[in-house]
Amino acid sequence: MDDNKPKLKKDLPHVEIPPFITVRQLADVLKVEPAKIIKQLMRKGIMANINQSIDFETASTTATDFGYVTKAAKEPKALPSRKDKGKGKLSVRPPVVTVMGHVDHGKTTLLDIIRKTNVAAREVGAITQHIGAYQALVDGRKITFLDTPGHEAFTVMRGRGAQATDIVILVVAADDGVMPQTVEAINHAKAAKVPIVVAINKIDKPDANPERIKQQLTDLGLVVEEWGGDTVCVPISAKQAQGISDLLENLFLVADILELKANSEIAAEGVIIEAKLDKTKGPLATFLVQKGTLRPGDVVVAGGTWGKIKAMFDDKGKQVRKTEPSIPVEVLGLNEVAKSGDLFIVLPDEHEARSIVEKQKSSRPHTTLSLSALSSQISDGQLKELNIVLKTDVEGSIEPIKSSIEKLGTEKAKARVIHAASGSITESDVLLASASKGIIIGFNTPTSPGATQLANIERVGIQQYDVIYKLIEDVDKTLKGMLEPIYAEVLSGRAEVRAVFPSSKLGKIAGVYVMEGRVWRDAQVKILRRNKVIGDSRVSSLKRFKEDVAEVSTGLECGLGIEGTVDFQIGDIIEFYRTERTG
Ligand code: GDP
Repeated sequence: MDDNKPKLKKDLPHVEIPPFITVRQLADVLKVEPAKIIKQLMRKGIMANINQSIDFETASTTATDFGYVTKAAKEPKALPSRKDKGKGKLSVRPPVVTVMGHVDHGKTTLLDIIRKTNVAAREVGAITQHIGAYQALVDGRKITFLDTPGHEAFTVMRGRGAQATDIVILVVAADDGVMPQTVEAINHAKAAKVPIVVAINKIDKPDANPERIKQQLTDLGLVVEEWGGDTVCVPISAKQAQGISDLLENLFLVADILELKANSEIAAEGVIIEAKLDKTKGPLATFLVQKGTLRPGDVVVAGGTWGKIKAMFDDKGKQVRKTEPSIPVEVLGLNEVAKSGDLFIVLPDEHEARSIVEKQKSSRPHTTLSLSALSSQISDGQLKELNIVLKTDVEGSIEPIKSSIEKLGTEKAKARVIHAASGSITESDVLLASASKGIIIGFNTPTSPGATQLANIERVGIQQYDVIYKLIEDVDKTLKGMLEPIYAEVLSGRAEVRAVFPSSKLGKIAGVYVMEGRVWRDAQVKILRRNKVIGDSRVSSLKRFKEDVAEVSTGLECGLGIEGTVDFQIGDIIEFYRTERTG
């Protein structure tokens, strides 16, 4: 690559490099084959694949190898929605509804009948598109339905930090009654603190018994209004389109109590309802805007990807120029297929969007929430409620374990069994535990292979017991913040020393550039010179532009002092660690 290399620096081509860049993007920037970049990195002892992010330092030296002069790209600005927070006023937004219930109880039939009978007059005959959500119009008011029925999709979204649903319709077939997935759905909705409206379906059937269902619901803590409770319950027949307008009116009554409002005058943010790859159009995603107004031309970060919105379509396939809170739209323009359940946010420019996505890709995954990790959070005062999904071999074991667990607890923390059932540990249990930042406790019951895999991805702890007293003892210790932990040092940031200044108090202050992760006051540090650790200590002072700061993140420079005396040299690498309980 030294061939034809110009001799003078001013003659060399210049490139701007962000704090993190993938091998593929670097290849694009340097106009060389990705394989050449990979080979060059291997010469430096770095094994990276084409989609892997490398830091500025590595990218910069590689670019130099290819005959470029490099410069750090501008620092990202703060997110717009945070800055805009105070601006604009709140206005009423339509409710967003999810339909849940046991298989075959009529969820799909209900969603279909609402879609068919409640479109605006001028739109009758328009072909509805499947975009994962649709809007119904009832007496001039809008209502949004997420049309992937079931509690799994709902909880996946919650697990990613999105509370997309305002109200849950729980469908219970009048001839079948409360079934295992009905109970799961109730517990998923309760864990999310989303109100439930019950639709007792199939009342046209001769063996329909709505009163029996009301009794079963009462036993589960959902007492219907006519029995003095506060659960709205509407008898319907989805198949014969009976009771549907009554159900929708009741949804609005609940929505009015919730006073659903959003600011539409800020940069948009919301949740991805569905995402797919279209052969001709490329990546498509359905966005549900939760705040602000979204327009074509907006630059968005959508979970692990980003893009500039080229066009937006509503649930009838009609192109729209803007969309407001609670309205679903299909968007065109993302660079990759997004993940449903991830959040999206509008950013001021493409550079910033790209740099946020790169940062996310290179950030380290959090550790598994085992009982002892949760115990540590309780002892630190971060966690006040230990959410438990309890699965047992037989129905009879549930009550004794549940009541013993719920009797435990201290001033610091209480245990809450958010779902208990007999049977093996399933993916649905993992999703619920993950979304509730809780744990799964199994008693004499196996974990399904799919659930084990998902638990590894979601970092959910599954704790198995075959002796009740040991199970209770561990939960007790956890609640007291005393469960024996396993510690590990977790690398959280790296910086390079670029200047050294004398200091009367600290001996020497290092001017550093944060290459990866973050740097914070009190962090444990290791100082490396030519890959050898030459000292370890703790950060005692951290400054940016003479101001004391608590934390500095990737791509920024700062002044750093550490406890004890270290003879910093330019080129030293400083690694920042936190200690974490991993088991
Ligand atoms: P899902 O699995 O909950 O989505 O249930 P579906 O909507 O697919 O319905 C399951 C079956 O119940 C289908 O054969 C429907 O036609 C039938 N069904 C749904 N609602 C009603 C109803 O109100 N009355 C009767 N008799 N059958 C219904």
